[in-house]
Amino acid sequence: MEKEQFDIKKSIDCLCIEIDAQQLNPRELAQRVTEVHESTVAASISALYDACARHLKTDDPNLYQAGLLIAQKLDADDKSLLHKNAFHNLEHLKIVILSSLVISKLAEKQGFNATCLDLLVAAMIHDADHDGATNIVDGKCIPFRLEEKAMAYAMPIFEETKVSQLTVGAIHYMLRWTDLAGRTADMKRNYPAGVSDEVEEKAKMLGDADLLFALGLGPKKAMNEDRKLNSELNRPFSRARFLSFINSIAPNGFFSKGAKFFDPNVKDLVIDLKSIPTKRYTANKAFGLYRPAAP
Ligand SMILES: [Zn+2]
Repeated sequence: MEKEQFDIKKSIDCLCIEIDAQQLNPRELAQRVTEVHESTVAASISALYDACARHLKTDDPNLYQAGLLIAQKLDADDKSLLHKNAFHNLEHLKIVILSSLVISKLAEKQGFNATCLDLLVAAMIHDADHDGATNIVDGKCIPFRLEEKAMAYAMPIFEETKVSQLTVGAIHYMLRWTDLAGRTADMKRNYPAGVSDEVEEKAKMLGDADLLFALGLGPKKAMNEDRKLNSELNRPFSRARFLSFINSIAPNGFFSKGAKFFDPNVKDLVIDLKSIPTKRYTANKAFGLYRPAAP
């Protein structure tokens, strides 16, 4: 085993042991997830996928193989905008892969017994082929535009590895939960392939994993993620926009049982955003660089 792969495997194994032991509070676990993420920054998607997949029960070798091929495609795809985007890049994919594993391990502790390899694969592809824009084109919202692009990126590999229609449909549905404007409460009812309660929960887990670093790992991490997104969208920081974003997508915290563990950190973020004088944020207006207040 290569050293890079061995190190990632070791740090993910340690994190899973710590989650299993249930001894960390939300702030402490946030700190540990951040540390593990930082240890994976230089890693390939393939190495991270493999290290995470080992912790998810599965009896679907075709899906595992599909995941590996998609990871290799992402690693090798040097024309992809994932190498250029300030936010929706390979690092973001790694963040969401790791977050999916963490959230599924937390859900498992609460009795969620489903295999979650499909969730991990969905996390890996959820922003594949992202073009750095949003789902609003010429002022009109096109629901699931980026999510359909991501699905199309992975489809040839799902076909080649003969992943079942049922699993492909479940992954497709999960991806839709990452479209914050497109997803709706009755999406499940209207989805043509039908969706089980289990897949619905995993879709919420993916939606939460997509936002975990932006909202759930404490104010410092959240501001850093917001800075990168502002840079990609070429807009300045706005505390009002950030607060209204939180209020519109997570008014009561996260949606999935696993991610709800981190709800206290979302509260910390809201308190922090509301309590800090505006001038703290205007010290450097260039894309809203975050300046922590002097103690
Ligand atoms: Zn994303």
